[in-house]
Amino acid sequence: MHSAFLLIFTTLWFKTRGHVMIDPELGVDPVSRKPYVNQISNVSGFASGLFCSTGTRQSPIDINFCIRTTMTALRTEGHSIDRTEGFTMVNTGTTAQINFDGSAPLLYGGPLPLGSQYDLVQAHFHWGSSDAQGSEHAQFGNYGPLEIHFVHKKTTYADLTAAIAEPDGLAVFGVIFALQNADNPKLDKIVNKLSSIPNPDSSPVTLDSDAMVWLDDVLSTFRYYNYPGSLTTHDCNEVVTWIVMHKTIGISAAQVQKFRTLKNADGADILEARRAVQNLNDRVITCARGCLATPAPEGVP
Ligand SMILES: [Zn+2]
Repeated sequence: MHSAFLLIFTTLWFKTRGHVMIDPELGVDPVSRKPYVNQISNVSGFASGLFCSTGTRQSPIDINFCIRTTMTALRTEGHSIDRTEGFTMVNTGTTAQINFDGSAPLLYGGPLPLGSQYDLVQAHFHWGSSDAQGSEHAQFGNYGPLEIHFVHKKTTYADLTAAIAEPDGLAVFGVIFALQNADNPKLDKIVNKLSSIPNPDSSPVTLDSDAMVWLDDVLSTFRYYNYPGSLTTHDCNEVVTWIVMHKTIGISAAQVQKFRTLKNADGADILEARRAVQNLNDRVITCARGCLATPAPEGVP
């Protein structure tokens, strides 16, 4: 019995140690399909994973208040259009990632620095083992079963590696899903393709050109929350301007379940693809007009 335990233990140990940890926030290069290497740990003052435990502007958070602030309209260009240049979706071993082929969609305006533009690198999903806690962000303590992140880098930075070394390097907008009884047919063009990428070594699957048009139902120029945060995966780099859409999009439990059938590199179902909410500390969550604004808790400036 002892030796059987030892065998299981050592097998797990070597299987775990043998893996390259892929950062879902950075994902895999759409061309080479190799994981982006997070080189921030080589930058002075940044140790690998350091900010995950000691950072003060970590993500995700529970969005439980917001301060109404004057902002220009948030602009998204090319995220939801019927895209002739196409999409592919890949199992990274930690999530399902969507790569936009051809020209990158653009994000600008809103809380982003005046005159700056951010181009989309990839989009990916977060979910949990339970429909009650699948999104990373919560709104007033309420989680959704799923959340999608659209990761953008500032266009002036050469690549993702350069961008994650800068405090204004990334802008990510998130959309939280809400559980509903019926399937959302608009999401079928993504959900029904998940069975084509069961494993990390599955070939990327091509999505229909209109696979992302459902975004039009939730993207908003003014109804979103904004706060300064981090990657939600190692090294938890505190370089992200977060924009979380106020409106949610419906999805059924059966549709969410299909994400949990994706396998990791060990061949096990990916049941938890999310990080728990982090302390807000002294950060302020802002919202533009039309957002659900509530008084700030005691002590928040
Ligand atoms: Zn993410």
